[in-house]
Amino acid sequence: MEAGGNALDAVEQGVRVTESDKTNLSVGLGGFPDRDGNTTLDACIMNHKNQCGSVGFLQYIENPISVARKVMEDTPHVMLVGDGALEFALSKGFTKSDFKSDEAQKAWKEWLKTSEYKPIINRENHDTIGMIALDAEGNLSGACTTSGLSFKMRGRLGDSPIIGAGLFVDNEVGAACATGLGEAVIRIAGSSIVVELMRHGYTPQEACKEAVERLIKKHDNQVENLQVGFIALNKNGEWGSYSVYSGFNVAHRDLENEKLVDSEFNRPW
Ligand code: ASP
Repeated sequence: MEAGGNALDAVEQGVRVTESDKTNLSVGLGGFPDRDGNTTLDACIMNHKNQCGSVGFLQYIENPISVARKVMEDTPHVMLVGDGALEFALSKGFTKSDFKSDEAQKAWKEWLKTSEYKPIINRENHDTIGMIALDAEGNLSGACTTSGLSFKMRGRLGDSPIIGAGLFVDNEVGAACATGLGEAVIRIAGSSIVVELMRHGYTPQEACKEAVERLIKKHDNQVENLQVGFIALNKNGEWGSYSVYSGFNVAHRDLENEKLVDSEFNRPW
């Protein structure tokens, strides 16, 4: 963006780095598989004009975020999933990759020994990458991409490909993105709530905190092992983050600074 690029290109290129990192176990093709051993990817992207695109349950494609952008730009739709998303990606020139991470496959085989199905978000919070940006034109965009919960049920989608849950951008107000247990984020329409709170005067920090507190309340305080974190950015470039548990961190970059920040949280892990 310093070189004049826009926020949309920046967030797409930014999360592609993590998607293409084959050692990352929770984003991209290197991610943990579902309980049948297949890695399925979810991603969405949104720009300053409320245009958005999403892919879910997508296999074999290294950069789902770029397929999501194509859905946004080249179709009249917002979401494509499964084989339809794959066919669309191939028709747009994306190549099929059979890459499987040895480490993720090994962990899956270990998991198979008990096959205990208990969706848990662990305290290593690198489960999804969400990136939101404000460019020199004053325009906001966001991107979100994940391999989802490890050893999830086949076909399970979390919040990350869902506009309003995993990601929301309103260029009049701000942008927000979520990570953590997708089911919990969907139940409160997480990212859209954060943006809506900012519309009503909350700072990004206050909005993330209020959304987390609401999420905890809506789960009757039963949030054992339920980690969720939000990041938010408003039109003035102010930003914030908040999570249920400690251990969630956020990378922040502006013209002067680049830093990794431990997020504020509701309770220690
Ligand atoms: N939000 C993702 C999902 O539920 C996973 C995560 O961020 O940990 O699929």
